[in-house]
Amino acid sequence: MSATTVTPEVRRKPIIKQEIAFAFMHLIPIAAIWTGATFFDWMVCIFLYVFRMFWITGGYHRYFAHKSYKTSRWFQFVIAFMAQTSAQKGALWWAAHHRHHHRHSDTPADPHSMKIYGFWYSHIGWIVGPDFKETDYKVIGDYAKYPELVWLNKHYLVPPVFLAVVVTALGGIVNGGSITMMFTSAGFSTLLIGFFLSTVILYHGTFSINSIMHKFGRQRYNTHDESRNSVWLALITLGEGWHNNHHYYETASRQGFFWWEIDITWYILRALSWMGLIWDLKGVPKHIKYSKDKEHARQLKLEMEDELQKTG
Ligand SMILES: [Zn+2]
Ligand SMILES: [Zn+2]
Repeated sequence: MSATTVTPEVRRKPIIKQEIAFAFMHLIPIAAIWTGATFFDWMVCIFLYVFRMFWITGGYHRYFAHKSYKTSRWFQFVIAFMAQTSAQKGALWWAAHHRHHHRHSDTPADPHSMKIYGFWYSHIGWIVGPDFKETDYKVIGDYAKYPELVWLNKHYLVPPVFLAVVVTALGGIVNGGSITMMFTSAGFSTLLIGFFLSTVILYHGTFSINSIMHKFGRQRYNTHDESRNSVWLALITLGEGWHNNHHYYETASRQGFFWWEIDITWYILRALSWMGLIWDLKGVPKHIKYSKDKEHARQLKLEMEDELQKTG
């Protein structure tokens, strides 16, 4: 499908209040000019980036959007809570929109196609705009049947606010020597750098998958969309950079299909499965892995079954 034959959907302009709020988030860490920043604050910043990126990809994405593994009801709530500490709205909101993205990838109905709506819109515009604010509970009915998840989805700011308070208290204790120091620059500097700066970087790490991962990199599989693979993005996003692999076979809990395709989320998910917290991680069948497109995969599957019959 060429760009000239596609008629984009009418997308309304961003809500100015939301745009300002989003821009303001970027300015908050600058207040560290007045509080200063300690080694501890920077460590918290790095830790919270990596820690929360894992829950975004292993939680929002590979669990809620794609059901690529199973878990218990209580741990499912933990996953949603942890993912939501990233301040990227509710788990059900996130996953419902992502399912929509896969269903309509790089067509006019795709919420964030860079090919059709451009970089800025696919990166941020669709989020600060009025068109995708609601959660379509029908799309995510398999999880919307749990009232605790619906509650968390509606009160999506509870986890990030909780984390911000914990981080500020830790700053008070570590930087200032006492929890009461959380109300001074000892606590605020950890809040600004540890929490806010990592949250902003996390936004752009995640959003880059929606925007530039459908533009830059290589395509191993013919997926009829613009999804790409990039080792650099895979490192920054703990495995999400294998986006062409993922669009080709979205149900797998790993996105690096080969051993050399670094996928840190997959390693952590395996560790969680060894601990018994999650199970039934879906892998990548051989005929998918070594195929070029779905037709080729079908042929390979038949050949492999034939081979098996002969040897069996
Ligand atoms: Zn995509
Ligand atoms: Zn996906």
